[in-house]
Amino acid sequence: MNILNIFLLSTTLACLTADAVNIMPTPSRIESGSGGLAVEGAHDIVYEEATEPLGREGYELEVKMQGITIRAENDAGKYYARVTLRQLVDQSENGTIPCVKIIDKPKYAWRSFMIDSGRQYQKVETIKGLLDRMAMLKMNVFHWHLTENDGWRIEIKKYPKLGEVGGFVADGPEQQGFYTQEEIREIVAYAAERQITIVPEIDVPGHSEAALKAYPELTCSGESPKPVKKGFSPYLYCGGRETTVDFLCDVLDEVCALFPSEYIHIGGDEAPKSEWKKCTHCQARIRELGLKDEHELQIELTNRLARHLASKGRKAICWGDVVTLPGQELEKNIVVHWWNYRKGKDKALKEGIRRGLPVIANSNYYTYLNFPQKHKWRQYNKSRTFDFRTCYEKNPSDIQNPTDKQREVLLGMGCCLWTDHGLTEEWLDRRLYPRIFAMAEQMWSTAERLPYAEFKAGVYAKRPLLEAMGVHGDWDEEY
Ligand SMILES: [Zn+2]
Repeated sequence: MNILNIFLLSTTLACLTADAVNIMPTPSRIESGSGGLAVEGAHDIVYEEATEPLGREGYELEVKMQGITIRAENDAGKYYARVTLRQLVDQSENGTIPCVKIIDKPKYAWRSFMIDSGRQYQKVETIKGLLDRMAMLKMNVFHWHLTENDGWRIEIKKYPKLGEVGGFVADGPEQQGFYTQEEIREIVAYAAERQITIVPEIDVPGHSEAALKAYPELTCSGESPKPVKKGFSPYLYCGGRETTVDFLCDVLDEVCALFPSEYIHIGGDEAPKSEWKKCTHCQARIRELGLKDEHELQIELTNRLARHLASKGRKAICWGDVVTLPGQELEKNIVVHWWNYRKGKDKALKEGIRRGLPVIANSNYYTYLNFPQKHKWRQYNKSRTFDFRTCYEKNPSDIQNPTDKQREVLLGMGCCLWTDHGLTEEWLDRRLYPRIFAMAEQMWSTAERLPYAEFKAGVYAKRPLLEAMGVHGDWDEEY
């Protein structure tokens, strides 16, 4: 899909109305005109200055019988105007697109999609395909979960064993591997061309068994952890040794050199402390610093990494676990990633507000798209399924009328595709479509929310186009 090269030839054609316009996510405003424009030949688009404040990513797209005008304040706005134009072209009938004026800007500056490349490696081409479709949905942050349990997928030159040991762990032969630094640079550039920032994640201190296997001296006991069969294990980076901090700072240095993103994700979720409780190094550190418990030791480690990132002009994102237990203050460059709605409801959001830290809304119910839509699948029982409608109507992260305090901290919204229980490449699209359209709508659209039936009809109308692109979702009519 090459959005950047759209050339149109104008001719006078039969009258069409904006009824034929089905743009997802729904634009702020659509004003229908009369007449249409033929999609053929090679007429350039005219770019003009914006006439009303449209913000960094907003745009005005005007299709007239004489041609096309795009007004925006900068490249991001121009890009999103072309994404919208591409949709008009794709749904054109008899080679004609209707005359229309679309004025549009996003609800949130942060609109993320995460894939777990830790548990399962995906091919570079697969990652690029995901980025293409994120752009189509006007999502602008690719949260790349690169380390998870036994898997480590990013080449770190100083510690080659990370990729060698953690790269070749997954369910199927096609899911083995890690991304070389050269491949990562290529993917970062590919994303940037689509107005997408890649935010890499190195999970600390839990979900890190791959690194601990590659370098057992990073564990509390000095012994290699056992393989993780499901969920997570108590094996953490030792929180009491300086060598752990040195290692993590070295890794973050290489990560920062590869990813220009202002934000780097340092994990922080699901870190049970049984190993730390019996570790002499961890306990000595707790005493030395006068900390209350092992959770405070995790916050101490988090703050040290956040300060290291701050010294490089970066911000640190942490999963909500760092605020949902009582603990000391967090560094001011930390962003809270709210996820655990199932157990904690909106506690992470409330804590973000109380502490004055920015929050990304990404509640597991209902933005975790690895949960199947309706039918039980492997370890996902019935209580861990949710359909398209639930996603659209009941997502706690979709805060439609935020309070002033919520508005102050909410950076935006995210959705995730974890690859646990062997979610190999062949399953990805079935999990994403059509539900990811609901996510994109909630992240981007400032228009009045459509009733579900109408929204569904608009999304399902995109199915043939997606299938022509080789994207096969889970389109049960019962949803
Ligand atoms: Zn320890």
